Amino acid sequence: MYNYGDKLTSQIVKQMAKEYGADLCGIASMDRYEGAPKQNDPRYIFPAAKSMIVLGYRVHRGTFRGIEEGTHFIDYASMGYAAINQVEGPMTLWKMASDIEDMGWEAVPIMNINGGEAVNPVTGKFRENWSVPVEEGKPYPDVLIHYRFAAYLAGLGEIGWSGVFLTPEFGPRVRFNLILTDAELEPDPIMPQGTLCNRCKQCVRHCNGALSDTETVKVVLGGHTVEYAKLDPLKCEYGLKYGCDDTACPFEVEYPHVYGYGRAVEGGRGCMRACMVSLEQRGVLKNKFHNKFRTKPEWKVHLDEEHPYPEYIKKEYIEQGRTEDAQAYIEYNENENYGTKGRENKVVAQQTD
Ligand code: SF4
Ligand code: SF4
Repeated sequence: MYNYGDKLTSQIVKQMAKEYGADLCGIASMDRYEGAPKQNDPRYIFPAAKSMIVLGYRVHRGTFRGIEEGTHFIDYASMGYAAINQVEGPMTLWKMASDIEDMGWEAVPIMNINGGEAVNPVTGKFRENWSVPVEEGKPYPDVLIHYRFAAYLAGLGEIGWSGVFLTPEFGPRVRFNLILTDAELEPDPIMPQGTLCNRCKQCVRHCNGALSDTETVKVVLGGHTVEYAKLDPLKCEYGLKYGCDDTACPFEVEYPHVYGYGRAVEGGRGCMRACMVSLEQRGVLKNKFHNKFRTKPEWKVHLDEEHPYPEYIKKEYIEQGRTEDAQAYIEYNENENYGTKGRENKVVAQQTD
């Protein structure tokens, strides 16, 4: 831990954020949540909070490379997604929260994860018979903070047509977590919509159905009306697990879970990769590269066509008798590896004892 003196200021918070591993840090005053839906209002988590510190972590462009080439799909879901939310982000939160509390201010570190939300974070629907408020007037647990709205209120960027948060540094390649504190900090100005997103709609063109070209959603954030494309969340979920259409996923079975997350098999084909390519082409991002990300047309597969095994597979595996059916790995996961099937059997056995 560092010695930052006695007085906690926005400048010191930003210095801490950098030293402890965040790429971006913005600050919102809690009054920017005035008018927010009760189930999404962080002031119910910490009523004495005066400030929200929002931390951003870059997703490396390289984590998309394997998907762009169509040869390695796990890197984005792990290094570009789960590990940021579950490993890198919490490390920064821990250290910053300790320093802030050493200075006498309470710090509520909120990592990027979903738990017991009364409103389903994917569908946005209220879960009936899920939980009850602990007192009259309080929201149902868990209150769900929308990280992209928090990032907007902390001045870190804008919400693109895709609904994904765009920052001047990395475009859509960022994940967020946050700290609520009772320290009063200087807030950052909110970025006007249209600073980065020019509504090129490359996100929609490469998405295949989850993002609307014409229908929008409007939300009021900190007194500003923000409009972006309507998303079909279940089509997007399908895209994450299997590739947004059959031409975007080479796997004939469901891709294995990564850290308990969606697998992001199509690597945000529209809202992340196509958007990033568009923003880079326009030269509006601060994180510049020596070489272009996309150098050739995107690949497409056709699972319904015949895919005869090439010679090297025949020679090295089939002719040597070194093959197994896809089902064997699924059964291995259910039994020896994760043991989910074994557990089911155990529960049934206990119930019948
Ligand atoms: S692809 Fe274009 S329209 Fe879509 S979010 Fe990015 S900049 Fe905006
Ligand atoms: S993750 Fe895929 S399916 Fe979902 S909005 Fe982005 S491009 Fe569309």
